[in-house]
This record gives sequence, C-alpha cells and structure tokens, in this order.
Amino acid sequence: RTAYDPAQFPMAMTPNDPGFDDLSGIKDGPRMNATFVTLARNSDVWEIAKSIRQVEDRFNRRYNYDWVFLNDKPFDDTFKTVTTSLVSGKTHYGLIPEEHWSFPDWIDQDKAAKVRQDMKEKGIIYGDSISYRHMCRFESGFFFRQELMMNYDYYWRVEPSVELYCDIHYDPFRYMHENNKKYSFTISLYEYHETIPTLWDSVKKFMKNHPEHIAAGNSLGFLSDDGGETYNRCHFWSNFEIGNLNWLRSKAYIDFFDSLDRDGGFFYERWGDAPVHSIAAGLMLPKEEIHFFNDIAYWHVPFTHCPTGEKLRTALKCHCNPRENFDWKGYSCTSRFFDINNMEKPEGWDTEGN
Ligand code: GDP
Ligand code: MN
Repeated sequence: RTAYDPAQFPMAMTPNDPGFDDLSGIKDGPRMNATFVTLARNSDVWEIAKSIRQVEDRFNRRYNYDWVFLNDKPFDDTFKTVTTSLVSGKTHYGLIPEEHWSFPDWIDQDKAAKVRQDMKEKGIIYGDSISYRHMCRFESGFFFRQELMMNYDYYWRVEPSVELYCDIHYDPFRYMHENNKKYSFTISLYEYHETIPTLWDSVKKFMKNHPEHIAAGNSLGFLSDDGGETYNRCHFWSNFEIGNLNWLRSKAYIDFFDSLDRDGGFFYERWGDAPVHSIAAGLMLPKEEIHFFNDIAYWHVPFTHCPTGEKLRTALKCHCNPRENFDWKGYSCTSRFFDINNMEKPEGWDTEGN
C-alpha cells in the first residue's frame, strides 16, 4: 500500500485515493482542537468501556484525541481508571453544576409530575423519568458550555453500548473543519409524537421572534412537508454526533435553546435533545453545513448504519451486515436528506439492506 503522506494527500478518504491511510502508527499531520465527549453514570463504566475500545481501534489510536466525561455525580475511581486506561488521548472528568441538571424555577412541579404519571400510564418510553428529562435538557443546552468543553472547537459524542463497524481512514474532525461542516449524523428517523406534541409550536414562536437566526438555504424541507406549518418529526439521531461547539455556543443556538427551555417542554412533555439539535441545525445552518457520514458505520440499539457498497465495506474492513442498514427503510428520514440536498444514494442502496 502507498504510505500516507499528509502533505501530499491531505485527506485521502476513499479506497481509490492514493495515500489512503494504511492504518499503521500514529498519524502525522495537523490535529483539530477536538474531543470526544461522553455523558455517563458510574454504573455505565463497562458499557462505555466497550464503546471506547471500538472508537480507539477504528480511529483514535492513530490520532489520540482527548476524551471528556461528564456526570451529574462525581466519577468514582473505577470509572476513571478503566476509561483512562483505554483512551489514547488525555481524559478529563467533569461534574455538572446543579443548575444544568435540575428544574428551572419557572417550571410548575405539580404539572410536571402529572405529565410523568400520564405518560407512565400510556407506556411512553422514559415517560415517567425525571433523570431522563434532565439528561435531554443537559444535552440540548449545556454540555457544550461545561468548563472542560470550553477548550475545544469540535466534539464527537459517544454513548455507552454503541458499535463502530468500519475503519475510519481519515480524521472526521478535520473533515468537518476543512469542509465547513457544523453538524453531522449517521442515522435519522421519526420522533414519537407523544414526546413532542407542542415542540413545533415553540419552534414557530422562536422563528417569529428571531427571524435573524433563520438561515437562507436551510434544511426546512427535511423537517417539514408543508413549508414549516407542521413538523414531520424527522430528526438526526444525536447519540452519534460530530459537531462544531462554537456553533452550539453561538447567540443563535443559545437564543433557540433558551426560548424552548422557557416554554417548559423538557418537563411538561419529554422533548429529546435529538429533535432539538436537529431542528436547530435544520433551520439555522445553511444546508451544506450538515454532513451525513456514510463511511462511519454505527449501531446504537436498535438501529444500524452500515454502508451498502461492498467495495467500501471491504476496504474499510467493516463487520456489519448491509442488510441491517436502516437508511433506506421506511422509518428512516435519510432519503429526505438526500433529496433536499440533491445527493445521489450510495452504491448498493437499492439492492442491499431493504
Ligand atoms: P437512550 O439512548 O435515549 O435510550 O438513553 P441513554 O440511557 O443511552 O442515555 C443517553 C446518554 O445519557 C448516555 O450517554 C447515558 O450514559 C447518559 N445518561 C442517561 N441518564 C443519565 C443520568 O441520570 N446521569 C448521567 N450522568 N448520565 C446519564
Ligand atoms: Mn443510548
């Protein structure tokens, strides 16, 4: 194989590129100001250990990016020892301030409790959970401004119990930077209506109050089938994300989060960070700034993104079954993303994984 020469081949991304990374040794070349970030409980240690091992084997052992761990309780020694031993970069452990993981004072506790009871009776997933709501609000509005995160420009979110199925032959952080991407995804799908009945009303209120934050050439067509009147519930699945932290820290995003937070739907409903991030990216970024990582094969229960093209899959030594690929199935929104961006679907999309 041709050795990787970063000067000659700044970003060899496909098996046909000369200089396609041979995956040996630590990579030369520039690093972005970037980190992995994981929100976890101490009890998640063995599941996050598996995720880290995969991220390291498939990518980070050659790049050695840092990893920030965040928790609403102090991390214990086992968690720190195990994760530090697995991460090839530096590890940092942050305790989330209470005001980022609690009910804001404008929330009516009785109303919120009643909603949890109703959702429990209806069998809505996590419907009766308080901690899940704090988690969703934290991931929507606060992870990117934790003290430890302020040192970085890009993040890659990793959850416990996920899988990476293919080698990553280039630096996705650098790809984001060089191609001016602000947000990215591997899987998209429809949100449960019951968890977000009034989310779009809040979004419309925000759009009316802050027209200055709505981007020209945005991805509204991914989110709505009627020009913004209603939400079609499409969202990027945020348990995987590579994104630009400065965008999340921008006035536009903070105004968006604050407006939604005031409306109370993190507690009066069960708004997830996935639709919140997705709607923000869809409305406030030009559509070219959102990226679909076809070559990052990923699983989080119960969905898989596995590249369908056999050439790509074998070159990247993928171990996923393309028949399990979710992208082109009925409950995925990824073909909408391809449509609004006039993108051609990857090799094998219609013959495998349907
Ligand atoms: P799901 O993917 O929507 O089913 O939710 P998860 O249970 O995977 O939670 C999402 C992320 O938040 C994971 O990284 C969890 O480890 C983390 N998480 C969830 N609840 C808590 C919590 O109460 N405390 C902390 N520190 N992390 C949490
Ligand atoms: Mn999860």
